[in-house]
Amino acid sequence: MRLIFTQNVGEEVRDLFLTTAFVLPPKVKSDLTEALKKESSPLGRSVLERLVQNSEISPKTFLPLCQDTGLAQIRLEIGQEVVLAGPPLDQAIQEGARSAYGTAFLRKSTCWPISRLNLGDNSPASLETVIVPGEKLLIRVLTKGGGCDNRCQLVSLTPTAGRESIIKAVVDIVTQAGSNACPPFYVGVSVGGSFESAPRLARLALLEILESNPPTEEEQLLADDLFAAINNTGLGPMGFGGRISVLDLRVKITPAHIASLPLAVNICCHSFRCGRVEL
Ligand code: SF4
Repeated sequence: MRLIFTQNVGEEVRDLFLTTAFVLPPKVKSDLTEALKKESSPLGRSVLERLVQNSEISPKTFLPLCQDTGLAQIRLEIGQEVVLAGPPLDQAIQEGARSAYGTAFLRKSTCWPISRLNLGDNSPASLETVIVPGEKLLIRVLTKGGGCDNRCQLVSLTPTAGRESIIKAVVDIVTQAGSNACPPFYVGVSVGGSFESAPRLARLALLEILESNPPTEEEQLLADDLFAAINNTGLGPMGFGGRISVLDLRVKITPAHIASLPLAVNICCHSFRCGRVEL
C-alpha cells in the first residue's frame, strides 16, 4: 500500500496547467519545426513560422500560447495499491485547476450552457479516473480549446464497413473540421468499443501521441494510412492549403459488439497543450 495525499495531486494538477498554458511539449515544438522544412505552400510556411515563433515567445513572456486557454481536462490512472488521504479527490483536483487559471490570469472559458453565463473560474475541470495495477498515480492533463473540441466526432459505422470506410470517415471528419479547428492537427482515433468508451479511448490515443508505449502493428498500419490520407487532402496549416494538415496521429482498436462499429475521432489543434506526471 502507498499513501498519496490528494492535496499533492491537486498541486501537481495546478503546476501542470501552469506549464501547459505557456510551454509546448518538446515533441510538439519539434513537429512544428520539422513541418516547416516539409511545407512548400508559402502561406502554409508563413503560418508554421509564426507557430514556431509563438512557441518561443510564450514561455519567455508568460503570454499564453493561445487566447483560448481551454477546458481543463484531466485523466488519472490510480494504482490499486494506492491509498488516497485528505480532502475528496475531485475537490483537490478542481481546486488545483482553478488555482492555475486564477494565478496565471488565464482566460476563464466555462459557462452555463443555456444562459451562457461565465462561471468565472474555468470550473469544472473534466476528470476521468481509471484504476490500474500497481502503486503509482499517473496524472495527465490536456488544455483543450473549444475550436478543435467542437470538431471531434463519434460516429456509428455499419458493422461491416471495413478498413477503407473507416479511413474515409476519419478523413471526412478531419476535412470538415477544416480551419475551424486550427490545423495542423494532432488526432486520436478509436475504432470499436461502445458509445460510452469510444470517445475516452480516442482521447487516450491523442494523449499517447507524446508517449513511448508502442501501438499494435494493426494500429500503426492504420495510423500510417490515415496520416498520409489526411495530409493528402491539401488542407494545410490553418486551412490555407499545403502538405501539412496533421502533425501526428494515433489509433486504438478495441473489440466491438457484433452489431456495432463505433468510431471516435478526437481532434486537437496545433496548440497541443498537454502534460503528465507520475507520483
Ligand atoms: S482551436 Fe486551438 S489554436 Fe485554435 S483557437 Fe482554439 S485553442 Fe487556439
